Amino acid sequence: MKNLKIAIQKSGRLNEKSVLLLKNCGLKFDNYKSSLITTVSNFSLEILFLRDDDIPGYVESGIADLGIVGENVIDESEAKVHYVQRLGFGKCTLKLAVAKDSTMKDLKDLNGKSIATSYPTILGNFLKENQIQADIHEISGSVEIAPGLGLSDAICDIVSTGGTLKSNGLKPFADVRNSEAILISRPELETDPILCELLQRIQSVLRAQETKYVVLNVEKSNLPSIVNLLQGVKSPTIVPLAEEGWVAVHTVITEDDFWHKINQLKSAGAQGIVVMPVEKIIM
Ligand code: ATP
Ligand code: MG
Repeated sequence: MKNLKIAIQKSGRLNEKSVLLLKNCGLKFDNYKSSLITTVSNFSLEILFLRDDDIPGYVESGIADLGIVGENVIDESEAKVHYVQRLGFGKCTLKLAVAKDSTMKDLKDLNGKSIATSYPTILGNFLKENQIQADIHEISGSVEIAPGLGLSDAICDIVSTGGTLKSNGLKPFADVRNSEAILISRPELETDPILCELLQRIQSVLRAQETKYVVLNVEKSNLPSIVNLLQGVKSPTIVPLAEEGWVAVHTVITEDDFWHKINQLKSAGAQGIVVMPVEKIIM
C-alpha cells in the first residue's frame, strides 16, 4: 500500500502536541529537529515538517495528503481542503483589540479606522459581513505594537490568555473567530483506508483524553444509588471485596462528569475513590 504523507508544524505552538498525538496513536518514528521528512516504521505514513502557513496549500495541491494545522491558518489561506477531525488543542481566538483607553464601543466605531493584522483575508471577510469600511494594514508579526507606534487604530490578532494584549496597553474589543488544531485531508481522500484507520486511532486517543477510569468501594446496600450516578461506557463492573457486604465499582466516565458527581458519590456511600488515566477507548 502506498504511504500517505501528513504535514505537521516543524516548530511552534502546534508541533509538540501534533507529534504527541501521532505517538499516542501508536506510530513509531524518529523526530529529529533537523529532519524535514520522516517515515513511520509501523504504519503507511510519512511525516513532513513544515511552516504552518504552508500546510493548507500543500494539502490542497496534493503534495501532502493530510495535515494538522490551526483553523485560522486554513481560513486565511482559503485552501480547499476536507475537514476531517477537530483535535482539541491549539485553542485560541482571533480578536479585534484597541488601546485600553479607547472610547470605541461598538463594531460600527471601526468605520473609517485602520486595523493592523496578519490575517487580512479573515478580517476582510469579517468586516464585509458586518458592513464595516476600515483600512486593513497587513503586517507579518508583532501586530500588538502597531497602535502604540501610530500605525493603526486597532489590531486583529490571535489571543489565548490576553497577556500579550495587556502588556502592550491593549484591550480586547470583539471576537472574530475561534480556532483549534484540525486534521485536514485532500478532498478526494475521505474514504482512504489508511486515513480511516488513522482517524479511528486519533478518535480513540481523543475520547480517552477526556475520560477517567474510576474505582470506588461501597457497601452493597448503597450500590443501587451509586450505579444510578455512574453512567459509563457501559454499566459499571461490580467486583466483590474480601470484606463481606462490600463491593468495588469500576467504571469509565468523563473527567467533567466525575468532578460534577464526586460529592454525590461520597454522600451515596462511596469510599476509597481511585481515579486513573485511560490510554485509548475503541468504540
Ligand atoms: P510557523 O513558523 O510554523 O509559521 P507561526 O509562528 O506562524 O509558526 P505559532 O505561533 O507557532 O505560528 O502558532 C501556530 C498556531 O497555534 C496558530 O496559527 C494558532 O492556530 C495556534 N495558537 C494557539 N494559541 C496561540 C497563541 N496564543 N498565539 C498564536 N497562536 C496560537
Ligand atoms: Mg506561521
